[in-house]
Amino acid sequence: MADSELPTRPKPEETGAAAAPAAEGDSKNASKNAAKKAAKEKAKAEKAAARAAQEKAQAAAQEANDTAKHLYGKLPESDDANPTTRFTDFTDEEKEVTVVARVDNARVQSAKLAFLMLRQQGQKIQAVIAAAEPISRQMIKFTGGLNVNSIVKVTGLIKKPEIPISSATIQHLEIHIRKVYMISEAAQMLPMQVKDAERPPPVDADGAPIVTLKTRLDNRVLDLQTETSQAITWISSGVAQLFSEYMIKSGSRWIFTPKLVGAATEGGSNVFEVKYFKRTGYLAQSPQLYKQMCIAGDMENVFEIAPVFRAEDSNTHRHLTEFAGLDFEKTFDKHYHEVLEFAEDLLVFILSQLKERYAAQIATIQKSYPKAGDFKLPKNGKALRLNYMDGVALLKEAGVDMSEQERFENDFSTAMEKQLGQIIRDKYDTDFYVLDKFPMAVRPFYTKADPSDARFSNSYDFFMRGEEIMSGAQRINDIAELEESMRSKGLDPTQEGFEDYLNAFRQGCPPHAGGGLGMNRIVMFFLGLPNVRLASLFPRDPQRLRP
Ligand code: ATP
Ligand code: MG
Repeated sequence: MADSELPTRPKPEETGAAAAPAAEGDSKNASKNAAKKAAKEKAKAEKAAARAAQEKAQAAAQEANDTAKHLYGKLPESDDANPTTRFTDFTDEEKEVTVVARVDNARVQSAKLAFLMLRQQGQKIQAVIAAAEPISRQMIKFTGGLNVNSIVKVTGLIKKPEIPISSATIQHLEIHIRKVYMISEAAQMLPMQVKDAERPPPVDADGAPIVTLKTRLDNRVLDLQTETSQAITWISSGVAQLFSEYMIKSGSRWIFTPKLVGAATEGGSNVFEVKYFKRTGYLAQSPQLYKQMCIAGDMENVFEIAPVFRAEDSNTHRHLTEFAGLDFEKTFDKHYHEVLEFAEDLLVFILSQLKERYAAQIATIQKSYPKAGDFKLPKNGKALRLNYMDGVALLKEAGVDMSEQERFENDFSTAMEKQLGQIIRDKYDTDFYVLDKFPMAVRPFYTKADPSDARFSNSYDFFMRGEEIMSGAQRINDIAELEESMRSKGLDPTQEGFEDYLNAFRQGCPPHAGGGLGMNRIVMFFLGLPNVRLASLFPRDPQRLRP
């Protein structure tokens, strides 16, 4: 028999009896006390049970009385609601709608009245619930007590409010609730309130909670729910869509080049290494060599939208370690300016179509970032193209002189670029422009030198609001010239990793040019956002690898 099955006898210290044998009278008293205590406990338990039963009966009675009990609570298994509608499709015709939305705010006004602010993709509409048969006080309590950010299914009547709802996006309509069901409940405590993230990152607002960019990015899922983030992500989507639209219309082919590569061919310092089985692999810093190999593969006109990785420890407003690259490469007939013009028209197309197709989103973003709507495009629909040396001259006129060495061996600094952007805006009334003919010394080895002056090259950068959004060039397509250019830049053409690329030219490759754009930068500068992280879904920078 196991010990635990032995009948147990209370130990003396548990009964309160002393270890020494007790006197007869003492023992009688003790058992009397124990009986009294037990009776008391029993009475207490009976009282509690009676109270619980009464509460249960009351709740049951209340539920039986609850004329609205089927109109709220958990979403019923057999959901017979009408198909759901989006707020943006509402008309001012008074009719019943069903919506799935987030609770932006819930508030009980009185036992008979509660308000919800509902949110869909950042757009808000007010919903109101008032006690009137069959809507009960219990339903009002449930509705007004919903946790903020929960997802609910609401059926109600669209009506015109007596006065416009200034805190809503759709101000001239509201929903008069008939049913409200929980679809997905949000926790009562959120790490950040979406409404606090709706203000632009702080310059300390008067007493309101400060949500820093760091907090917002740490809680990016909540941050993405704001009206502004919603609109910005639509602009990113628009840039990618317009880029592919233009490319496909021009007969360009969408390509998908590898991001895992075997050699750091574009400079070893800013490339991420990855463990590749028993070898070292790298993350592609651009699709440059591969898009040119596609040209050698007779594809003539190609484009790609894909991640680009840069292991640069650049902690600035415009550098990410992973960004969305928009790349293209194209053959030409006589002169690389055919491709340059193609790229200029591409940008004019993207930027002007953004203004046209995304006017509503731009207006939304403008509420937080006032420059969002003021991007200036050239009036004649043609990009302004200057030479690099014209830029140098404009800066000189403004008192910024570059030495002979600086002109040919350095590029503009970020400060100079910005200043030049302002000069060009004042003089030519445009925020988008192109500089052609950069010094050869500042461009990569595959860039074609200017045949008329070898200090320069057939290469170009595109700028928005004075900051770079694209680099491109005519590429060397002659193998001897290419090897010579590599050597002049201190690269060894026989170095591992170049072989496949160079073979593409040994086997013959037509003249071509192209460019690489940063999607996040285009969005950032088009909207005048202060930080590229705001134009990246889940930004990656030297400090950030989550969420
Ligand atoms: P920068 O001088 O601003 O560092 P870059 O000249 O090194 O840029 P390129 O190699 O020419 O950049 O890349 C082509 C385009 O890709 C750039 O014009 C820019 O739009 C984008 N881009 C480059 N680096 C980054 C980055 N770290 N973060 C976001 N976008 C980038
Ligand atoms: Mg560049």
